[in-house]
Amino acid sequence: MFSNISVAPPDKILKLNGFFKADPNPDKINLGVGAYRDANGKNYLLPSVRRAEQMIYDQQFPKEYLPIDGYAPFNEAAARLIFGKELHNEIKERTVTVQELSGTGSLRVAFEFIHTFFPDAEVYIPSPTWANHAAIVKKTTLRAARTYRYLGNRAVDTEGMLEDLRAAPAGSIILLHPCAHNPTGYDIPDDQWGRVFDVLEQGKLIPYFDSAYQGYASGDLDRDAHVIRDAVKRGFEVFVSQSFAKNMGLYAERAGALHIVCGVPQVAEAVRTQIKSTIRAMHSSSPCHGAYLAATVLNTPELRAQWEVELKAMAARIQEMRQALVDALEKHGVVLPGGNDHITRQVGMFSFTGLTPDQVLYLRDNCSIYMLENGRISMAGLNPSNVDRFAGFVAEAIKA
Ligand code: PMP
Repeated sequence: MFSNISVAPPDKILKLNGFFKADPNPDKINLGVGAYRDANGKNYLLPSVRRAEQMIYDQQFPKEYLPIDGYAPFNEAAARLIFGKELHNEIKERTVTVQELSGTGSLRVAFEFIHTFFPDAEVYIPSPTWANHAAIVKKTTLRAARTYRYLGNRAVDTEGMLEDLRAAPAGSIILLHPCAHNPTGYDIPDDQWGRVFDVLEQGKLIPYFDSAYQGYASGDLDRDAHVIRDAVKRGFEVFVSQSFAKNMGLYAERAGALHIVCGVPQVAEAVRTQIKSTIRAMHSSSPCHGAYLAATVLNTPELRAQWEVELKAMAARIQEMRQALVDALEKHGVVLPGGNDHITRQVGMFSFTGLTPDQVLYLRDNCSIYMLENGRISMAGLNPSNVDRFAGFVAEAIKA
């Protein structure tokens, strides 16, 4: 029965991780995986989350099924976090929030719903974007996503992006990164978002915000969500996928949410029932533990304050590494094509370095440095003990 099934192409990031694990060099550096590492290169369980875990254990939170739409205190806290308290209060009657399997599950369920109710809608994703966007759109809508120009010359190609969006048919879904664009690290400048919204409004296009890095980009939870809030205040109906993987370090707990802001409460009620029936047929309900953790952190004032301090520290460490990398490159006489300043202008987990695929391969094969072929590095993989070594090897790869 299965004999004619061919092997699926491996996921590039997971494949890279395999190479990293197999490398016996004790000084190897992994800049592929998008997960936070502390200054010693270790993964990081946030102390606020650990305290929440103890509380959940002590209070014996139940393991009963959650409702289809998830753990209500989590949903409420997640919506308040992304929209801000004031806006959330204003829109909650016309907003559908459901717990989902982190950012990926949220996207998957939303696109399933989009495919069912808007089968002709085109979906536009930035070029480039997180690889799973294209895969999820294809699997659910059964058509390839269209792309809009995003990456220009060491900056966002705002004009190209707007031109492509102007050509999108009315009713298209436009996927946007509200902050910390993955993989480029370049965000749409604050003063250009108004122009993006004008084009969306004129073209009757639907914004879909994929928020995987709130608080992680700038260290400020409100700042990293302001684009979403501005869109809602302008009157857009929006989709938002929200992940707690990075900002709470809950990667494997799969804690996330899907929010759909509708025009009026009656419409939201209908959407809620349909989203619930979509979830029911996909995975029935979500797991409880990650939602308990996130809700406990968000809803316990002391833990919430502690989490914000920890989140700021993670964001600051990454920003410090950006400066440290620029300094180290300078020390080794490295000038990347166009200059090195883009590294500090970029935001969030990743940097698009500008290294070529050949240089990336050189680094992997000769220096035990693992990064994506497109030149993307995870800034979290750098720390005070390896940043100088990395810059030295980059100098070598450029000369090779
Ligand atoms: N969207 C973007 C842009 C991402 O970078 C990620 C994580 N790499 C996700 C969504 C989803 O991650 P998760 O499913 O772990 O929440």
